[in-house]
Amino acid sequence: MKKRITIFGSTGSIGESTLDIINSHPDKYEVIGLSVNSNYEKLLLQVKRFKPKIVSIRNPDSFKKFKDLNTDKNLKIINGSTSYEEILDFSTDLVMAAISGSAGLIPVISALKKGVSIALANKESLVCSGSLITSLAKSKNVDILPVDSEHNAIYQVLDVKNKSKISRLILTASGGPFLNKKIDDLKNISPDEAIKHPNWSMGKKISIDSATMMNKGLELIEACYLFGISEKKIEVVIHPESIIHSCVEYMDGSMLSQMGTPDMRTPISFTLAYPERIKTNVKRLNLHEIQKLTFFKPDFKKYPCLELAYHALELGKSAPTILNAANEIAVDKFLKEQIQFLSISKIVEKTLNKSSISFINSIKDVIEVDNESRKIALNIIKEGSY
Ligand code: NDP
Ligand code: MG
Repeated sequence: MKKRITIFGSTGSIGESTLDIINSHPDKYEVIGLSVNSNYEKLLLQVKRFKPKIVSIRNPDSFKKFKDLNTDKNLKIINGSTSYEEILDFSTDLVMAAISGSAGLIPVISALKKGVSIALANKESLVCSGSLITSLAKSKNVDILPVDSEHNAIYQVLDVKNKSKISRLILTASGGPFLNKKIDDLKNISPDEAIKHPNWSMGKKISIDSATMMNKGLELIEACYLFGISEKKIEVVIHPESIIHSCVEYMDGSMLSQMGTPDMRTPISFTLAYPERIKTNVKRLNLHEIQKLTFFKPDFKKYPCLELAYHALELGKSAPTILNAANEIAVDKFLKEQIQFLSISKIVEKTLNKSSISFINSIKDVIEVDNESRKIALNIIKEGSY
């Protein structure tokens, strides 16, 4: 029987790579549902090729345009706040959670509540709601399979039976497009310059996060929640070649890592096939050609967002939710050229300082903190007080 897959965020970078793998294995996978924000044109092409049973389009104008142009009479087309639950009324074995930002939270929760396993690309949902998601998955006895290359690497080499014997996790980071620039050179960086990642091709938001290294900060928080390991045992190492995707060190001195060319189709195919493996046409590593790999410590002065993420974890409770919301606002404003690149970390720091840190006991709490933090960040930007 084919594995039934639903993709939330099918028109994005991860969504498209997922469909690319499914396209190579028509005997193994069937697409059940697709969801997008507004890109109805790309969705029309995906529907023609993969024939899902249901699609959801969030943007009302795109929803109308899609309905007018669609010719598939059997396709159910929906939008609205309960659309993710409706998609999951169609039996699905695995949800690829590939929406960007905390907009991906409700879809992830909907899937887990239905008892559907998740391939998790959307790190922000975990960062903003943390242990709520992992405990929901546990109570429903479903898997959260990490798509993020670093977490996927750790998942592949983590010996669950010996988890208490782990001495360290090492998250590798490429250092982004500005690795060789000085802080002073970053003042007048444009969104186009920040989006150009040296190793990975990704959506806009995560590309900016990679340039500020907030991406690694979010991944640090993601790793703490996913693997139940304190931030004190997690080290970030800059590894510009992006070949070693992360490492687990055990108390006996063994360090295990997963390697591969930087191509998200490897971790995505791992999650689609789990617990088996499938073939991909990803370029193979040629160790003779690579010859050497380099590693060094990140500079917190140059990458203050990374330090802020460690700080948010130390503060605990709602601090990671606040950090994430403020970052989403700041990145959006930078992409719209309304603030400077170096202001992103300042706005996040100021929002953290101005917010009261509270306990998070429910998804309602997460949404309230997320909304409130966005308001605080927007106000800081409006006042120019950063
Ligand atoms: P993209 O920006 O390329 O794609 C985002 C997808 O989500 C699109 O399908 C978009 O629809 C949809 N979407 C955006 N906002 C909303 C919303 N408010 N409601 C519903 N749908 C929405 O992002 P990426 O694919 O790069 O990243 C997706 C997630 O995966 C992020 O959380 C990112 O951090 C994570 N990730 C990505 C990696 C990568 O290599 N790209 C690597 C590791 C993690 P539309 O096209 O219509 O706008
Ligand atoms: Mg990553």
